[in-house]
Amino acid sequence: MRGGGHKYSSLTWRELDILSGKLAARLCRDCRTNTPVVVYGHKDPLMLVCFLACVKSGRAYCPVDVSVPLNRVEAIIDAVKPELVLAVEPLKTSGGTLVMDRAGILAALEQETGTAAPERYVSADDVFYIIFTSGSTGTPKGVQITRDCLDHFIQWGITLGRGLDDGKRRVFLNQAPFSFDLSVMDLYLSLYTGGCLFALSKEVQGDMNTLLSALEQSGAEVWVSTPSFADMCLADKKFCDALASRLSLFLFCGETLTNRTADRLASAFPKADIVNTYGPTESTVAVTQVRITPELRLETPLPVGEEKPGTWIFIQDEEGRDLPDGTVGEIVIAGDSVSTGYWKRPDLTERAFGARIVEGVRYRTYRTGDSGMKRNGQLYYQGRMDFQIKLHGYRIELGDIEGNLLKLEGVTAAAVLPIMREGKVRSLTAYVVAERHSSDNFAEGQRLRGDLRALVPEYMIPKKFVFLDRLPMTNNGKVDRRALGGNKK
Ligand code: AMP
Repeated sequence: MRGGGHKYSSLTWRELDILSGKLAARLCRDCRTNTPVVVYGHKDPLMLVCFLACVKSGRAYCPVDVSVPLNRVEAIIDAVKPELVLAVEPLKTSGGTLVMDRAGILAALEQETGTAAPERYVSADDVFYIIFTSGSTGTPKGVQITRDCLDHFIQWGITLGRGLDDGKRRVFLNQAPFSFDLSVMDLYLSLYTGGCLFALSKEVQGDMNTLLSALEQSGAEVWVSTPSFADMCLADKKFCDALASRLSLFLFCGETLTNRTADRLASAFPKADIVNTYGPTESTVAVTQVRITPELRLETPLPVGEEKPGTWIFIQDEEGRDLPDGTVGEIVIAGDSVSTGYWKRPDLTERAFGARIVEGVRYRTYRTGDSGMKRNGQLYYQGRMDFQIKLHGYRIELGDIEGNLLKLEGVTAAAVLPIMREGKVRSLTAYVVAERHSSDNFAEGQRLRGDLRALVPEYMIPKKFVFLDRLPMTNNGKVDRRALGGNKK
């Protein structure tokens, strides 16, 4: 892996194996319990040493990125109640949990001579990692992913695009922080195929010129990111195959891949494959995939694809009844990569998870809260059920307006937010990124409003248009609706 910028800023396979074995030996000796270990830090190869040390010592790891605010880090530590926190970056918690800092980790790596016996490794049904996602109440919830779930994901992941398990050692690009499960895609597909992981730090991602030169130097062949991150790069004309000529596969997950993004990417990288994948953290990164061919790009919206083997997707109504093809309902996932539930939260687990017999086998199920529809074996994502609003009695999917705004001339990105007063939606505001700056935003807003009228009913026309240079993104690389000042419901 390459990333970081200090000692061990680049690790070979052998080094990663030896160092993680040493740290695992230390954990086996010093820890009294098998509780998961919180690993705090950023894009640093030492993070991988810590992750693998945990699982080699029979403990799950819980990755927490430096971009997570301190009070949330503390909430996570409070929820996990780890015996030990491995802090690759400085961390000052107010609690009494034992923290092994970077110096302590480096000292352990120098001092240890042994390794952990393979019998100690986490196996089959053991939890391999716990990733915290935001809960609707504001308290983060820890999604437990077992080693089997991860294995099932990897066995499918290596078949993406034209296949990644052909003995070629590819360079994978890592955009997402390790506390976002999208990073599991680049991390474990690169580890499994003996490739190289090239991590982009948040400093690098924060400056376009630095980012472009990092991309150029990376030699990256497989790109893994949210579509928003690709949009941000596409805003610079230099982002094309002349800059990163070896990029042959774009893997997307986490949010809607629009036709516009796919089209622009296809023109900038005509030789590369674009693959859209879909899935929540609760079903281990992604469970559907589709290659976005030139023919498919003519279809709007783009599908999110067909299920991986071992996964079944059902579309259900509010009473949990299966709906036929072509009918919109809640996306429910059943299969071998569905999580065992939320860490120490049986109440939340019971609400969202269940079980179902499919083809004679009992699988865990997860109700996603996403709305979608199946047609000809393809899944179509239709937005979050909780992004569905009512305005003056009309039922509106904000994603519907956004999708139509993107069809308008000159619009490169759009987010629509409801404006609430006294618990009710009063109006809609559109945040728009335009290809060209207009000196008269009012007139430009009027033009978009007029053009949008041709596409959606009047009640879906936003009252206000705000023009931005780019949409704010969360640390995970999705559009940050909260930063735009909106409230979901
Ligand atoms: P996370 O658990 O953070 O990965 O977020 C999962 C959610 O992201 C899903 O439940 C969807 O709402 C959304 N999502 C994931 N993949 C896609 C996709 N390909 N297209 C649209 N939305 C997606």
